[in-house]
Amino acid sequence: MAYDFDLYVIGAGSGGVRAARFAAGFGAKVAVAESRYLGGTCVNVGCVPKKLLVYGAHFAEDFEQASGFGWGLDEAQFDWPTLIANKDREINRLNGIYRNLLVNSGVTLHEGHAKIVDPHQVEINGERFTAKNILIATGGWPQIPEIPGHEHAISSNQAFFLKELPKRVLVVGGGYIAVEFAGIFHGLGAKTTLLYRGELFLRGFDTSVRKHLQEELTKRGMELQFNADIERIDKLADGSLKVTLKDGRQLEADCVFYATGRRPMLDNLGLENTGVKLDRKGFVEVDELYQTAEPSILALGDVIGRVQLTPVALAEGMAVARRLFKPEQYRPVDYKMIPTAVFSLPNIGTVGLTEEEAREAGHEVQIFESRFRPMKLTLTECQERTLMKLVVDASTDKVLGCHMVGPEAGEIVQGLAIALKAGATKRDFDETIGVHPTAAEEFVTMRTPVAG
Ligand code: FAD
Ligand code: NDP
Repeated sequence: MAYDFDLYVIGAGSGGVRAARFAAGFGAKVAVAESRYLGGTCVNVGCVPKKLLVYGAHFAEDFEQASGFGWGLDEAQFDWPTLIANKDREINRLNGIYRNLLVNSGVTLHEGHAKIVDPHQVEINGERFTAKNILIATGGWPQIPEIPGHEHAISSNQAFFLKELPKRVLVVGGGYIAVEFAGIFHGLGAKTTLLYRGELFLRGFDTSVRKHLQEELTKRGMELQFNADIERIDKLADGSLKVTLKDGRQLEADCVFYATGRRPMLDNLGLENTGVKLDRKGFVEVDELYQTAEPSILALGDVIGRVQLTPVALAEGMAVARRLFKPEQYRPVDYKMIPTAVFSLPNIGTVGLTEEEAREAGHEVQIFESRFRPMKLTLTECQERTLMKLVVDASTDKVLGCHMVGPEAGEIVQGLAIALKAGATKRDFDETIGVHPTAAEEFVTMRTPVAG
């Protein structure tokens, strides 16, 4: 049977655009549908605008520290609407770039909500198109627990477009988004409280990293409340919010921001017209080739709920395009040693196993750890400390994990990730000459284990 397209991609986010462009480049006839914004979550309400706001928040400490270097500044002024307008302009520019990328690579762009009507057919804006393969790349959506008054809370989707900076913000959650946005709000001058339901935030990260960030955020004056969970939110007559915790305490805020995870975006997608199955958590179930239970339908990125990071969605998009249209170049995505950063202030950068994971996996480990005051701060009052940590297998000498909390941790860990992927040993680290004077050189000068 002749199809309208070889591949119909639903969702022009990180993974969908990558798969569509490369598939078209390999000679396939490709369409991509997008209902909301070109570039998806990352470009519009994720990585990119988030990083711009983090840069904005960082200026607060830059101004504070400048006086130690002889700079005299009048009192710094911050204007939220200017930051948001400039951010919006940049995102509009990026949307245009994504449009050009797609069109110039020969992909047909359909703007609207796509619904699968049968395993080889998609309906969009009242028209139907057939395709040999359909790729679900619809991403995720913020999930707010349905407690009484949840409608008064916002998620990251709204936070990027607030008309003004709230004076008092309660951030709920202890994952990437909660920690990053707490840093943004706090840095920009809002009185910020982070509420997390467990003992210590950032579950899954190395314990030294979690504790170090807790200390640093507390030093900066952010209020951290752990073992705290909201029971209800009430709107008061003056527009502010009264938050009642499960332990009976009450807090007031102008904005309650939930960052409690993301669900797969499957709304009105028509999966009931297919044999696609969902996993236990509701994400689209795929095999190692991103194949769903329906032979003609594939899925990738956040909607499959494996690793919700843009570079992973990009790698999956590339793998799908190659597998379908350039099988001789197909290489599976390697999910081991994925480096990642949390753009909290200060940043976290991490790659490989945490100390806890390494011990649980049966490794006999040596731990190297260094905490120091960055050189840039020596002329300032700022008492921030950087943490660097290496987890090493004592028998093979292989470095299993690198962890950092401090300025530019993400930038530094990206380079280390290559070394770990190549199987570097602690001896390789020791024999590497440092770049002096940098913070990063500490990773090649740690000699004495702090724990074995
Ligand atoms: P998405 O980028 O979400 O794209 C899915 C697209 O599908 C969307 O554009 C959506 O509108 C469209 N769509 C959905 N349903 C339909 C339909 N039926 N018809 C047509 N179109 C549809 N990752 C990082 O690596 N680094 C970061 O710093 C980072 N920061 C983040 C910050 C925030 C606040 C958030 C929310 C996420 C962040 N992420 C970050 C995660 C990253 O954004 C995602 O992992 C990535 O965008 C996933 O790509 P995707 O292609 O799977 O989905
Ligand atoms: P995460 O899954 O990272 O964190 C969710 C947090 O919310 C956890 O602390 C979790 O607690 C808590 N939580 C979950 N349900 C509830 C509930 N019902 N009540 C109270 N707390 C709850 O999700 P995020 O929303 O922060 O981010 C989604 C994903 O996006 C991330 O996992 C990451 O993959 C990606 N991302 C990446 C970024 C980056 O690369 N820098 C930045 C932002 C997002 P518990 O731990 O106890 O389960």
